Amino acid sequence: MIITGRRSKSVIPAWVASLALVAGCQVGSGTDSGTDSASVRPNILVVVVDTLRADHLGFMGYPRATSPQLDRLAAESITFENAFAHAPWTSPSVAALLTSQYPGALGFADSKEPARPADDVQFLAEVLGEHGYPTTAIVSHTYVGSRLGFDRGFDRFDEADARGPGHVSSASVTDKALAVLDPQQQQPFFLLLHYFDPHFAYRLHEGFDFYPEYQGDVQSGEKYNSLLKRARSETIRDDDLTYIRALYDSEIRFTDLHIGRLLQHLRDNGLYDNTLIVFTADHGEAFLDRNDRWIGHGKTLYQELIHVPLTIKLPGQAAAGAVVKTPVGLIDIVPTLLDFIDIPYPSQHRFEGRSLPLTDVDSLLQLPAEPVFSETLARNRWLQSVVDGRWKLIVNRETEKLRLFDLETDPLEANNLADSEPATTRRLAAELSSWSARVDERRHNAGSPASFTKEEQERLRALGYLP
Ligand SMILES: [Zn+2]
Repeated sequence: MIITGRRSKSVIPAWVASLALVAGCQVGSGTDSGTDSASVRPNILVVVVDTLRADHLGFMGYPRATSPQLDRLAAESITFENAFAHAPWTSPSVAALLTSQYPGALGFADSKEPARPADDVQFLAEVLGEHGYPTTAIVSHTYVGSRLGFDRGFDRFDEADARGPGHVSSASVTDKALAVLDPQQQQPFFLLLHYFDPHFAYRLHEGFDFYPEYQGDVQSGEKYNSLLKRARSETIRDDDLTYIRALYDSEIRFTDLHIGRLLQHLRDNGLYDNTLIVFTADHGEAFLDRNDRWIGHGKTLYQELIHVPLTIKLPGQAAAGAVVKTPVGLIDIVPTLLDFIDIPYPSQHRFEGRSLPLTDVDSLLQLPAEPVFSETLARNRWLQSVVDGRWKLIVNRETEKLRLFDLETDPLEANNLADSEPATTRRLAAELSSWSARVDERRHNAGSPASFTKEEQERLRALGYLP
């Protein structure tokens, strides 16, 4: 679905109606310095955790206690149980989230060659900045840094924590966020936080050991190549793999702790009620889920890599606890936010995502299915996928091999139904072709390849991105 310009203008902005649902909640303290509206608006906080697969979080059904703080946030939010990243690696996924454009149209292809989106692509921070929001980003990975243009529209952009796999950054990201949050500020703020610790290398954090009885020789913080070699080895033991997952879970729990500090600060300073909080991830992580004996991300479009968590906490915690099952994509976030705070879409800009009706819970719960697309080109393997309702089709564009899965009955994607469900396969393949043609048409607007310094290249190599 393509949305061009504003479709309707409500008399009461959606977020005001949302606030009114909660008696006694604090109304926002800001005023709009833009020209379209004089009304006050809520603060907007977007939290993106790198490499966080949806099924490792408590509120998504994971049995381990990896996410008590995020579980509490989810209980006060709308949860989108079937949210998808549009690429299984950082730059294209976050770029799609912040622009509502598909990665291919932004110029992304191989994970070894991240793109810098073209200048006329508009990022969320640019739109919010034009409407009076002071904008701050604190990020911790080169792949969402200024080199790739992710600083566009931000008054403050901090990327000092983008220091590679040896650096633990969650505490610092939260500390910096607390330092910029000012309860006395008269304007609503936009804050983007990117946490990185669940990304490789997996590290054990004190107090969060999910497998203390492990006796093997996998090390906390072990280098990627060493771990990959171990993963590919036929001799890797089940307990080694269990320990690797336990290290990953320790990183999630550690990140959850520091996100929790941020949320508590908002509550303690009277900022929580009037802040709309989006929590999500850029992609997941594979742990030998397939028979390719592989750990990491970027390479496939299976659920462990593109099924991501997504919750949206509204001002006043309106619609708290609602759970939406219809598949949605990260490209839906920008049009949804702008609609909610009643900011008109930039007239020259076409969003690829759809606006989700946050204030109409009944409509949200019965949201009609629309196809959600993803793509990756990694190590010369070009894959595209579409999720439509319960069905998911993955196409290898080099070999034209098709894989169809019923996510309702086969969430682990073990049974390829492409031959036994030919009508569904044909329908989804047609959806994928027309989408792919549309993205191709827009590639002319694509950005330029990014260039990195020697130091940045070393960092990316240590993270497993460069050979
Ligand atoms: Zn990432």
